Amino acid sequence: MAVVQQQGLLCSEWLKKPKKLLIDGNWVDAESGKTFETYNPATDEVLTKVAEGSKADVDKAVRAARKAFESGPWSKMATHERARLLYRLADEIEKRADEFAQIETLDNGKPIKESRWVDVVQVVETFRYYAGWCTKLEGETTNVNSNFFTYTLREPIGVIGQIIPWNFPLLMAAWKLGPALACGNTVILKPAEQTPLTAIRLGELIMEVGFPAGVVNIITGFGANSAGEAISNHMDIDKVAFTGEDKTGKEIVKASTGNLKRVSLELGGKAPNIVFADADLDAAVKGAITGIFFNQGQVCCAGSRLFIENSVHDEFMTKLTERVGKMRQGNGMDEKTQIGPQISKEQVERIMHYVGEGKKDGAKLVCGGERPQGELAKGYFVQPTIFDGVNNDMKIAQEEIFGPVLSVIPFNTMEEVAEQANKIQFGLSGAVWTRDLKRAHKLASHIKAGTIWINCFNVFDPQMPFGGYKMSGYGRELGKHSIELYTNIKSVWVNLAD
Ligand code: NAP
Ligand code: MG
Repeated sequence: MAVVQQQGLLCSEWLKKPKKLLIDGNWVDAESGKTFETYNPATDEVLTKVAEGSKADVDKAVRAARKAFESGPWSKMATHERARLLYRLADEIEKRADEFAQIETLDNGKPIKESRWVDVVQVVETFRYYAGWCTKLEGETTNVNSNFFTYTLREPIGVIGQIIPWNFPLLMAAWKLGPALACGNTVILKPAEQTPLTAIRLGELIMEVGFPAGVVNIITGFGANSAGEAISNHMDIDKVAFTGEDKTGKEIVKASTGNLKRVSLELGGKAPNIVFADADLDAAVKGAITGIFFNQGQVCCAGSRLFIENSVHDEFMTKLTERVGKMRQGNGMDEKTQIGPQISKEQVERIMHYVGEGKKDGAKLVCGGERPQGELAKGYFVQPTIFDGVNNDMKIAQEEIFGPVLSVIPFNTMEEVAEQANKIQFGLSGAVWTRDLKRAHKLASHIKAGTIWINCFNVFDPQMPFGGYKMSGYGRELGKHSIELYTNIKSVWVNLAD
């Protein structure tokens, strides 16, 4: 195993230590004794081995989480104490921001600048935001009639299973854990098999800052026929929160029927990014690039369908391709890197398959479309790729590629683009670039998607809800809406009649 040795690397000693499962406050091997390898996508080298949890480990974790929920110190803890733990966790992550960023970049491949200044920063903000919620959960009193005193209680749901993907490993853990813990639940978290490392480091800090045993359990391992499935069909898990592919989401829903557990889903997307001729074109070009190439295109809300008004199409494409041509692709650990490797060989194959489909369907490849040669050939790299002259019905416009492949679709009228924007099975996000306020707001209301950006793209804050319409899933994460996902409402009737 090639342990990473690099100047300034804060995690090389940590990488050498065994990576186990967190169950009931202890780091333990998998019951089966099995482990799996996690890779550095920039080099195809093994970073370390990680315990491979499966059903038996999930069962143990659920027992621990149930005990912690029903009778442990967690169940009696004052809400301000819960808040203090979450604030402390945020502080400890912040202190180790560089270390977390390095682990994330090594395991996932994303540029270190993004790990450090996007992912880790938002993780800290998310935990702080939800720490604030601990002391603000309230029921209500209602006036039914004078014979009754009636009130509602907002209660935690119980034991929560959380299954997350590899594109924002630590951030997805924060989006899931923050609100679940703020509301007083206990959790079994399963990170994606490709990116288990930051969740393990997070688990260490969770124990260090003093969360009671069993409140957070972390089971690294696989999804189908293994730990993920054991979570989604477990009879003693009260809710599953899932982020990932729509196909997997359907499996999760089916598996949930045994005990009709609550399910919330954040699935894929194929966002329309619409540029009108009157827009600030330079800003829109930057937005188009962020929209599709941020995180190597492995973003559920990626602006993968770029609609450009015909009258500015040529000018826009010249500016766009010129900028994209200058993007620096390389190892994410290099501070200068703007676009890193994809997560895995499988993803590279999937992306290259779609590039082939685009060519076959007659779209015009204007840049990229190849795997870089030379030093990058050993990593999982794909060049930033743009297809022009795409028709909204083509496969590359309809299916989620989850890679750095942009489909440019020219249009003439607002009516035409409004119709095409919604001609898609997904509805996670969309964007409009224009100086015409009326048009911007009309489209914001018309597009069937959970987030609309006007003259911006990929802007996030823990206060703003995020989630899908249509096949992009259901439930809203972030903001106060996540509190709804992790609590039950109980109505209490007190008879006051004489
Ligand atoms: P995925 O295959 O659906 O995996 C997501 C998670 O589910 C992983 O932890 C995976 O485990 C687990 N899993 C797989 N099969 C399972 C099963 N049958 N039962 C229970 N768990 C199972 O998705 P991915 O390939 O990691 O991520 C890419 C997809 O996620 C894209 O389609 C993207 O659009 C979507 N995504 C959506 C959002 C959002 O916020 N809406 C955010 C990020 C990604 P393994 O790691 O072992 O496969
Ligand atoms: Mg990895």
